[in-house]
Amino acid sequence: MSMANEHNFPIILAVSGPSGVGKGTCIAALRKMCPAIKLSVSATTRKPRPNEIEGIHYYFISEQQFNDYLKNDEIIEYDTFCGNYYGTPRQAVAKCLEEGKDIALDITVKGSLNVKRFFPNETVTIFIMPPNFNELKQRLIGRGTETFEVVKERLARADRELEQSKEFDYIVVNNEVGQCATELLQIYQTEKAKRLIK
Ligand code: 5GP
Repeated sequence: MSMANEHNFPIILAVSGPSGVGKGTCIAALRKMCPAIKLSVSATTRKPRPNEIEGIHYYFISEQQFNDYLKNDEIIEYDTFCGNYYGTPRQAVAKCLEEGKDIALDITVKGSLNVKRFFPNETVTIFIMPPNFNELKQRLIGRGTETFEVVKERLARADRELEQSKEFDYIVVNNEVGQCATELLQIYQTEKAKRLIK
């Protein structure tokens, strides 16, 4: 399916990587450099963390609401993660594509690969890699937002997701947020240029 209009060829940046790697921070830094890139706000059944705001970080909904969204085809893709549901609302993404705007998604590996399947021409998949697994562990523990059990579960999931990184269009190592965001910007500009040439 292609949703480009005659003037613009929108891009979906589907960004994945293990929990705690800093995807959100790197995407935010990229959007600071390039505010034209919109951000998809996901729906989740996870409880909000103290710093999280409804409609900015997520739409925090019940399992019943999530099931209703699925039934009504209002979710493009979804995944379960450590006992919670996470899904990309269809409306915001469809609107961006119709208007020829670019959008970034911070989603699981399964999510990114599904989005690529649904929108093969628009989607660029990027896997953000931690410099090493130990550092990731320290970051997750240091963040202090999850219990030890959940941290363990998130690390096990990270291990599995790392193995699928080779299925991505790009892999970027997050040594430092500025460097990582600059690499994301370069990928974005390269992919934008490719679509203009076509
Ligand atoms: P967290 O609980 O740390 O905010 O997110 C857990 C994981 O869910 C992260 O890897 C994040 O990228 C992913 N995630 C967030 N929203 C979505 C979504 O809409 N779809 C999918 N597939 N994954 C999501």
